[in-house]
Amino acid sequence: MTSRRKETILEIPPVSLGGVLKEEALPMKWVKYPNHYGTFFTFSENETGPWHFCTCSETPLTNLFELNRRFPPHDNVNKNRLAPLDSLHVPDEIAEIYLKHPSDPISAFEFHDKLCHRCNLITPTMRYCHEMYGGRFDQSFGWYTNQSYLRYGVNPRPWYEFLEEICPDNIQAFIKEFRVTHGAYILEMQNNSPALANDEFNILRKAYNKAARELKNTFVNFTREEFGFRKVGEGWVSETIVFKITKQLHHHLISFDTTGLNGWKAWSWTYTSRI
Ligand SMILES: [Zn+2]
Repeated sequence: MTSRRKETILEIPPVSLGGVLKEEALPMKWVKYPNHYGTFFTFSENETGPWHFCTCSETPLTNLFELNRRFPPHDNVNKNRLAPLDSLHVPDEIAEIYLKHPSDPISAFEFHDKLCHRCNLITPTMRYCHEMYGGRFDQSFGWYTNQSYLRYGVNPRPWYEFLEEICPDNIQAFIKEFRVTHGAYILEMQNNSPALANDEFNILRKAYNKAARELKNTFVNFTREEFGFRKVGEGWVSETIVFKITKQLHHHLISFDTTGLNGWKAWSWTYTSRI
């Protein structure tokens, strides 16, 4: 038996629009993805369920239930969007079941420890968003950033409604600043379109962009730390940790290289295979 090395460029994973996938590195290998830009995965030992949540989802799900109760969504022809835990965040089939549990949806599914990608330091197989709409971390872990918002009592969409008794004061201040700058920016765009290039408008636009960036980065950084990455602005992604995570998915991986190319395609992976 001889061994040899071959070099492979991994293809960019597709963006998830929901559906069920088998992910061998997880303890319950069947994963139900939420809808596009959703938040919560469910996991099962079988392709058709029964479906379970990871225990780490319980607090963000509980906060989402309370947010939807205090700030009910507008009418929607899609009834799953009106579920107490809605299909913006959970898979459609799960939201449909929640519609039958309006007063205590949390008890409708079992929670089990260490089921999710985060608790196992695994990268989801699919991508959260297209590269036009997010950096490499967002593409890989955007669902878990949404869970971070909810863990701190903030709804990641549409207007960052929050639970005052749970959301920390500094995050509430970020949200209030974002709302003020966003409101002023939109008003100026509507009322003063011929003068959009003037200095005053540019100052307003920069203040809005800064507030939006700071708010988002707060939650991205929580999630980056959970997955073992450095915070935004503190340096490059830890290649050692990327290697560790990827090795769990690709057992024959022996090294990788990030030089020479750009973004996802920069990662050149070296495998060993026995023939
Ligand atoms: Zn978990």
